[in-house]
Amino acid sequence: MSATAPAGRFAPSPSGELHVGNLRTAVLAWLFARTTGRRFLLRMEDLDRTAVGADAGQIADLRALGIDWDPPVIYQTTRRESYRAIVEELRDEGRTFECFCTRREILEAPSAPHAPQGAYPGTCRDLTDAQRAERQASGRPPAIRIRADVTTFEVHDVLHGDYRGMVDDFVICRNDGTPAYNLAVVVDDAAESIDQVVRGDDLLSSAPRQAWLATVIGASPPTYAHVPMVLNADHVRLSKRDGAVTLADLAADGVSPTTVLSHIAHSLDLAARDEFVDLDLLARRFDPDALPREPWILTASEWASPGAG
Ligand code: GLU
Repeated sequence: MSATAPAGRFAPSPSGELHVGNLRTAVLAWLFARTTGRRFLLRMEDLDRTAVGADAGQIADLRALGIDWDPPVIYQTTRRESYRAIVEELRDEGRTFECFCTRREILEAPSAPHAPQGAYPGTCRDLTDAQRAERQASGRPPAIRIRADVTTFEVHDVLHGDYRGMVDDFVICRNDGTPAYNLAVVVDDAAESIDQVVRGDDLLSSAPRQAWLATVIGASPPTYAHVPMVLNADHVRLSKRDGAVTLADLAADGVSPTTVLSHIAHSLDLAARDEFVDLDLLARRFDPDALPREPWILTASEWASPGAG
């Protein structure tokens, strides 16, 4: 398949070990891509919050579940030049502005008329040269925001249908010079011909901004599938605090990757409880329309052996 053939992807942040929730999303991203004849790419979103060796650990965990991808693994830190070029292009087209606001100033500013709740209030959007010079003199380096010419944008999501959400003047380059997640993700998805984005539904509200930005840089927005999260017994997003939730911790408790895959498959209604499965079998059974739409509530009793107390 050519390198420009349509692709899906999994894009973890290598900030630590993947937990069962991340692994379940990875399985779904693989299933969505491979059952639709797409390439499947792995991208390390390592522009911030990285832990030494976490990428290698994540790669090993994905392999342990049988997930494969089309090489190479892409690291965002190797792509800074592409992000810089796009930010410059947008700036030269007059589509960006420098923003000197602190988080607090943004929270305390009165919102702009007709602006949706939580939108950037527009404080730095139309500064005069004198105002800008004054702010520059404060010594605080500016972030760069995109000048949005829409307030909402609609995306298509396989699980959520047509979803319209807010677009504001969001940050595309942080004030420490790091490309913002919302920029990097769009630039990379476009560069890699990714036309299918499968990820946790905590990112659904970011999709309209990203899809709109894709159109601004001349790319077509992808199709989305924002999949339900895995929650703990308190119905809070699963985290390391919830005990054995990584492959390494589960293995230490005698739970093999094969068992983890089996339970993930069962949670997706793709396997009977404790049925031995592999990804090819799951691909034959996979039907996006039949996927559960509710979060998976995962408790420690999930891993108790069949028949045990
Ligand atoms: N790197 C993001 C995360 O781990 C995912 C970004 C994406 O899939 O668009 O939450």
